[in-house]
Amino acid sequence: MRSLFLDELTSEDVKDASSQVEMVLVPIGSFEQHGRHLPLATDSIIVHEVTRIVAERINLEFPVLIAPLIPLGKSTEHASRAGTISLEGDVLGEVLRSVCRSLVRDGFKKIVFMNGHGGNVSLLTSMLREIREETGAFTASIYLYSEDLLGDSVSRFNEWDMFHACALETSFMMVLRPELVHLEKASRNIPQKFTQQSGYKHLLLSRKRGVEFSWLIDDLSHSGVVGDPTKATPETGRAILESLVERICEVLREVKRV
Ligand SMILES: [Zn+2]
Repeated sequence: MRSLFLDELTSEDVKDASSQVEMVLVPIGSFEQHGRHLPLATDSIIVHEVTRIVAERINLEFPVLIAPLIPLGKSTEHASRAGTISLEGDVLGEVLRSVCRSLVRDGFKKIVFMNGHGGNVSLLTSMLREIREETGAFTASIYLYSEDLLGDSVSRFNEWDMFHACALETSFMMVLRPELVHLEKASRNIPQKFTQQSGYKHLLLSRKRGVEFSWLIDDLSHSGVVGDPTKATPETGRAILESLVERICEVLREVKRV
């Protein structure tokens, strides 16, 4: 293939590509406040870059293509803050469905969403089965910040260093787009609500719990940050990124086997 990016191919190229390519990666991010030190498109920038790095590496083993970035996500939790542009769930669901219909019409049979935003997770999970049932395509989604993908690589951070516009996202941005990071404006913010320290047992902000509840950013933070971006460094970003890319490649090898 002349390019990993569908954006750079011609219609003619795609006719040949669909029979050669194992899967299409669809990066999806968000457009939402990320504190005073990171840009609105942080999630989209990170997920697009991670997808590129993953695709370059896995392409040495089997061919994949990258679909156009979906730059808007479901960001209801940040809607009160200036600059946030959020899609309603049913609109985003139809966008995902339409993208997949188009790809399947072109002959692609496996679609992997690369997701860079927590607010998209539950919608993606429900859409994957609907899209498979409708189109027959095998679908999967990979959430960059899930515990099984980050693993021990984030052990250098404490629980409350990472959540939103945090040590992890800031470290990634220091590697991927350092000119967009304004570290001098970064501040630590640990929430006073919905933590064990504040006396909650079940209504906890955590990525691995069975209880969900309707927290909004205004419950957690004045600055828009939840976590400690002042701990971010490019060295940390590079190390975690390397481990994350390797694990995502493992996932893609399994998707190929399906
Ligand atoms: Zn983010």
